Amino acid sequence: MKKILYIQPLHPSGMEFLKKKYHVFTANNEDQQYLKSIIGDYHAVVTRLTVIDRELIQSAEHLQVIAKHGVGTDNIDVKTAEQQGIKIVTTGDANSRSVAEHTIFALGALSKRIVYLDQAMRHSKWQTRDEKGSVDFAGKTVGVIGFGRIGSKVAEIAKYGFEAKVHIYDPIMKREEIEERGFVYEQDLDELCSKSDFLTVHVPLLESTRNLIDGRRLALMKPTAFIANFARGGIINEADLYQVLKAKKLAGAALDAFETEPPEETLPLLHLSNVLLSPHCGTFSEDSKKRMSMAVAKGIDAVLSG
Ligand code: NAD
Repeated sequence: MKKILYIQPLHPSGMEFLKKKYHVFTANNEDQQYLKSIIGDYHAVVTRLTVIDRELIQSAEHLQVIAKHGVGTDNIDVKTAEQQGIKIVTTGDANSRSVAEHTIFALGALSKRIVYLDQAMRHSKWQTRDEKGSVDFAGKTVGVIGFGRIGSKVAEIAKYGFEAKVHIYDPIMKREEIEERGFVYEQDLDELCSKSDFLTVHVPLLESTRNLIDGRRLALMKPTAFIANFARGGIINEADLYQVLKAKKLAGAALDAFETEPPEETLPLLHLSNVLLSPHCGTFSEDSKKRMSMAVAKGIDAVLSG
């Protein structure tokens, strides 16, 4: 019976699926020396963020497949794996829906002032009708930066679920593809910043996307606009974002990704009431965990039984 090593446990669905055909062991230990001492027995290894480097791969004489719980393979020495004929499988699109929904709900929670209203009522405040009201998505311009797995789903939910006008900035995608799917193609990022009522980033963190939304672009935005970063810290410049939010030159920000994770408690953004925070968990709905776990299991099974 072939053997599968999980470095950490995942949602049980995929593990149960594999246990019917394979011997499955969970290490619960990511110490490299320990992993090196046991990996020689295994035909598959499953990692989340644990580094699978050249030395570890070279200690794995029976290894046929490395499964990544996620899509980024930067923690895996892919070149060495390929040289040794080891396949890499990832969870592809399995978590995108979860991140897309969380992004929309976070922007909606901000614009509908849900946290504020909940807190006000808990402090015996009932009459909020004279205060500034909330904002609907319908008829508003939602700017989506990056039309990949997650950005395209955010765009669909905003347009078809909430009747927003959705504009896309993604210079790598073809204009026709974006327009055919019912969205407005935006060529100029500055334009998108200035016209969006909601702006959300869904690009990878690259040298070209670091500080993509900096102080200059934030200054182009409407003071009534909301912004979200459910991609990677550093795409929106945190220091610049703090300045515009503090000065009320922007209505609010929903942040799931930070330049340093977890952020220092002293990070000024954590102390603003017009910021909605979450600890890089957009991906972790129960449904997504299950889909990702099954994607890992099916990917491994396809290689081991192929
Ligand atoms: P993807 O690769 O499917 O899509 C990225 C898109 O960005 C592509 O369409 C690409 O053409 C576009 N792009 C690249 N450079 C660009 C630029 N300079 N300007 C505009 N568009 C550009 O990626 P994805 O799976 O949709 O993930 C998007 C982001 O979400 C990534 O940063 C990823 O790390 C992050 N993510 C976050 C969570 C979370 O829990 N918050 C979970 C998964 C992924």
